[in-house]
Amino acid sequence: MKTVNQYLESLRELSPVVYVAGEKVDVLTHPNLKPVVNAVAKTYELAQNPKYEAIMTAKSHLTGEKINRFNHVPRSVEDLERRVDLAILTSQKIGSCNYRCAGCDALSALESITYEMDKELGTNYHQRLINYLKYVQQNDLACSGALTDPKGDRKLRPKEQEDPDMYLHVVEKGDDGIVVRWAKVNQSGSAAVHENIIVPGMTFREGEEEYAVAFAVPSNAKGLIHIMQETPEDAERRLVEDENELGIPKYGVRETFIMVFDDVFIPWDRVFMCGEVKYTRELVLRFASNHRTSSAGCKVGFAEGLIGATYAIADYNGLAKAPNIRTELAQMIYTQELARACALAAALKGWKAESGTYFPNYVLANVAKLASAYGFIELMKNAIDISGGLTVTLPALSNLKSPVGEYLKKYLKGRSGVPAEHRIKMFKFLQTWVAGPHAPGAWHGGGSPMAQLLTLYALTDLESKKRQAMELAGIEEG
Ligand SMILES: Cc1cc2nc3c(=O)[nH]c(=O)nc-3n(C[C@H](O)[C@H](O)[C@H](O)COP(=O)(O)OP(=O)(O)OC[C@H]3O[C@@H](n4cnc5c(N)ncnc54)[C@H](O)[C@@H]3O)c2cc1C
Repeated sequence: MKTVNQYLESLRELSPVVYVAGEKVDVLTHPNLKPVVNAVAKTYELAQNPKYEAIMTAKSHLTGEKINRFNHVPRSVEDLERRVDLAILTSQKIGSCNYRCAGCDALSALESITYEMDKELGTNYHQRLINYLKYVQQNDLACSGALTDPKGDRKLRPKEQEDPDMYLHVVEKGDDGIVVRWAKVNQSGSAAVHENIIVPGMTFREGEEEYAVAFAVPSNAKGLIHIMQETPEDAERRLVEDENELGIPKYGVRETFIMVFDDVFIPWDRVFMCGEVKYTRELVLRFASNHRTSSAGCKVGFAEGLIGATYAIADYNGLAKAPNIRTELAQMIYTQELARACALAAALKGWKAESGTYFPNYVLANVAKLASAYGFIELMKNAIDISGGLTVTLPALSNLKSPVGEYLKKYLKGRSGVPAEHRIKMFKFLQTWVAGPHAPGAWHGGGSPMAQLLTLYALTDLESKKRQAMELAGIEEG
């Protein structure tokens, strides 16, 4: 498995094309890219640590070798449970995205769907996928996962759009491969990984074959451009002289990119679906059940820092034992543990697909994502309440070394023994969570809550519930 230095060196060699605020930048040295690279590097560092071996690594079912669990496809319910642990551990240690969940979740969905496609259609997608997976595992590559299309007018099908490029699609098929055009948006960490796994973002119908495409593309493919998001935190990171001024200096906030595919060539051995619209629904469902479970696990890890910071501030303010604060902290713990319980339940009620790969229970995976999205807003509400206004009104840490530093040391200290510096740093950390991009991230990442509600509705047999109610109520017909 790769060391952190080997990962950094391999990224240097890849040198993908990345734009930040209108400028072409270097992925390893630009201040906005560094936290993303640090986060991916952490997934390599944790995998080398014997303490986390059971969570961070797995035995490949293809080669029998020890691999990073992010490149493993779950082969048992225990693997599914470990997958949840992996999401929790990495988001707890990084305090931001690990940038590898979506890639991992897409690979296992493809592993099983390609098996079923080949069996029914006589295609050879599965062997390609297996060869590719071995390549990823043996070279210990980091993969992102890309589904979300720009979508334009959300009420229109892809071909009804004014601009035909609002959904990524195939524009050319040749003997050697395909050419794809146009974009995937909101892609977590795509510029700091080696490979990107691209899958359809929705169920496509007959007549929409060019959109039903799944493939793997290296981050530095010719014609692929990564355009980075911009938030106030990104601008602030470029401005500060000392990154310790920031809430999470090393890993920052979750960063995404628009991936522009300006007619990118994909050789056939990297294409895992090309036109088979019938399989897009199940592919999206399997990806979604994986990703909604891991996304819930991720929020459990985030909650660790959010609850920890809220408790620390209550303590710094002398309020740790106040009954109202204790009640609100207990509500936060309940919210965190509810998301953990749902994610673990989805894993423990997992099922085995024909290829031998396991998936979380669809219903519980969607419930887990909802519990974590709704829960994140609840966590923020209590954190904001307990911490008071300083979370957004605090002056910069750098003031402490200026002529006004003595005032801040005097007026921003907390209860006895808590210096102003600790309070400023902890408030700044909390600001990252409650006044940054995390809430929309928790809400929409893994699909907007309405997508989960619609899935729950579609997967549930309401007639059977109605019959149950009628039986108990003594109604025989109707
Ligand atoms: C921090 C973050 C990280 C992410 N990382 C990734 C990633 O790594 N890979 C990836 O593929 N995606 C990623 N996403 C994208 C995420 O999956 C999408 O944001 C999500 O699916 C919602 O899509 P959207 O942003 O286009 O919003 P929209 O689709 O515009 O949704 C906005 C609202 O409109 C509603 N809506 C949408 N369509 C309709 C319709 N036809 N009729 C009625 N209502 C509708 C939705 O229910 C929602 O309430 C990430 C998102 C975030 C915020």
